[in-house]
Amino acid sequence: MKSKFSLVYLLLLFFTLLVLSGCGIKSVTKDQNKIGSEKEQSSSITQLSEPIEKKPITTQPVRQETQVIFPENPKITAIPVLYYHSIAVEKGNELRIPPDQFESQMNYLHSNGYSTISMDQFYEFMNGTKRLPDKPILITFDDGYQDNYSNAYPILKKYGFTATVFMVSNFVNGSGFMNSTELKELIANGWNIEGHTANHLDLSTLTGASMSPEISEAKNKLEQITGKEVKYFAYPYGKYNDEIIKSLKLAGYKMAFSTERGWAKDGRNIMLVNRVYCYTDMGMNEFVRRLQNPSY
Ligand SMILES: [Zn+2]
Repeated sequence: MKSKFSLVYLLLLFFTLLVLSGCGIKSVTKDQNKIGSEKEQSSSITQLSEPIEKKPITTQPVRQETQVIFPENPKITAIPVLYYHSIAVEKGNELRIPPDQFESQMNYLHSNGYSTISMDQFYEFMNGTKRLPDKPILITFDDGYQDNYSNAYPILKKYGFTATVFMVSNFVNGSGFMNSTELKELIANGWNIEGHTANHLDLSTLTGASMSPEISEAKNKLEQITGKEVKYFAYPYGKYNDEIIKSLKLAGYKMAFSTERGWAKDGRNIMLVNRVYCYTDMGMNEFVRRLQNPSY
């Protein structure tokens, strides 16, 4: 009995340490469709404080229907791609970031001269074209939670920022998720709505024909809803393999985002773009640290 108890205790201690160390376990919850299972795949999170860069004097580009063309900026070799899920309050769920924390982060970006770029501009960067503002950043949201529209959008708009939503096509108009009118309004205001499968399934569990509804049919459906071509993709749960990548390319996806940590570096595999994970209570020091070092 005693040794059994000790084993249970040791296991509990082990898992507690794993959680505390921010270990990149690909957690699969009871309900895979719900928030809470798309944390970064990473090593430990260390708390380091680095000096904050001084605010440069920049001129904000004027947003137009057509993209702003920046001069060549060859010194930029990596761009942080932030990824969020929900901007709302829910205690104990690190994927729902309270609006005030999100606002502080956006305020920091704005005060420090960052400019959000579009997905197409980012795609061109990954292919070697460096027509970019001095401090480019890409902001992304996975799944398509309704609060992306009601909470995140007004904050981003206030700072002149835009973002991308990786939308699960069958979640559109669903409870807790954005509806088609909201998605269209975001697009009209410079946002991108891109692919994140039809049902938020772990694609690595599917093969051949069963993948098609999640990849090509989901892409078509999202295009019908938004009236815009869907060219980019994010892997649910960060899961991918060669067959998934092949299917994405066949369906017409040009670029795909993982949940692996680090900035997106030009010349790297365009079907496995790294992202910078943002989570509840990460604190401004950690947020800033992730914006200081491409390999944080
Ligand atoms: Zn997701």
